[in-house]
Amino acid sequence: MRRITTLFLALLLTLSLTACGGTAQPNPPAQTGDDASQTETPDTAPEPAEEPEEPQQEPYVISSPTVDRGTVDGVTYVPWDGVVEHLFFHPIVAYPELAFDGDSQADGIDDWMVTVDEYDKILQSVYDRGYVLVDINDVWSESTDANGQPVMVRNTLYIPEGKKPLIFSYDDVNYYDYMLKDGFTYKLILGEDGLIWSYGLDPQGNEVISQDLDAVTILDKFVREHPDFSPFGAKGSLSLTGYQGILGYRTNTDTKVWNDELEANRLKECEAVKPIIAELKRTGWTFGSHTWGHINLASSSLERVQADTKRWMDEVGSLIGPTPILYYPHGARPDGDDVKQTGPIFKYLQEQGFRVFASVGISSYSKIKTDICAVICDRLHPDGTTLRGSDKVIGWYSQFYDARDIIDLDVRPNRGVKWTPKSAS
Ligand SMILES: [Zn+2]
Repeated sequence: MRRITTLFLALLLTLSLTACGGTAQPNPPAQTGDDASQTETPDTAPEPAEEPEEPQQEPYVISSPTVDRGTVDGVTYVPWDGVVEHLFFHPIVAYPELAFDGDSQADGIDDWMVTVDEYDKILQSVYDRGYVLVDINDVWSESTDANGQPVMVRNTLYIPEGKKPLIFSYDDVNYYDYMLKDGFTYKLILGEDGLIWSYGLDPQGNEVISQDLDAVTILDKFVREHPDFSPFGAKGSLSLTGYQGILGYRTNTDTKVWNDELEANRLKECEAVKPIIAELKRTGWTFGSHTWGHINLASSSLERVQADTKRWMDEVGSLIGPTPILYYPHGARPDGDDVKQTGPIFKYLQEQGFRVFASVGISSYSKIKTDICAVICDRLHPDGTTLRGSDKVIGWYSQFYDARDIIDLDVRPNRGVKWTPKSAS
């Protein structure tokens, strides 16, 4: 009898693990956040069975801000029809002493990246100023107009009263070869606790597994500690190229040299990254395309864009699933001006399923196109260029943070700043 009970309880445990774990569930069953919410397993939890136990994942709830839920747990959700702000980051610098060592990459990293310390301060500042995260996929939807033509529409978001919605996106979350020796983490991995961690080497060459050195794990941790920063469970949108694989896994092909051994290794990398993708999706991360080859859409032929898109779908889309989001590499718009016209490259990309086309700019501009079912939008870019910028430039960011409080001039190269110091302003 005892044996049967144990078996039964073991089965129950297995079932409950299956229900809350696994892949890409849009609505995991229980409440996120505090310990009190762990109602999944029975109080009389059985001794673990003989077989190896899966890590017990903290349940994680993802919900839609487009639902008018009224007042829940003392929080009143009110409609937001204003601008949904959008900030994007590149991989962040874990070890400034490696990044800013004066080699040929140093100035580029200084221009386009922030350090871990700066990123931490930015998160704290936007949180303190009342921003809450929303998923870019929730901001617009596909609908049909009066003539039955497909059209994108802006959704009303219901946001906790007094808060402001904010999208985060992250470009080039690929862990390119050139970055590995230059002060960045090497890849995302799954810890024995079932959480996402980063793997890398410190300046002395020691292996480091951490949650404090990578933009993804830092945001995960920040949301665990400040659940009200993400009332709907959203994290950020990871913008991926394909030419050196994704998330630190070399899932790409190479047309120059290819053989069975390379293909076998590639397939192994594909298998290894799948649980990472599943866990990221389960915990509020979504994905977008950054083209396979980081190609400049302003100067590429339609044929090149077609070949590149097919390869992205084959090698990246096949792993992460369909996405309606395209992040322009270099912020370069196709066909001249995609704001004023819709050219052949834009049309082709839209036919491939992309609906939201994101560039880079000085505000969170967005425009619903009327001649085709698509949205174009800009993102602001916290990085060295804007942290060092003029009073006008840092003014564009003043609703999020004061750049003068964020920039870490002690670790960055000595390249000057354009803003007026606080004491003089
Ligand atoms: Zn890029």
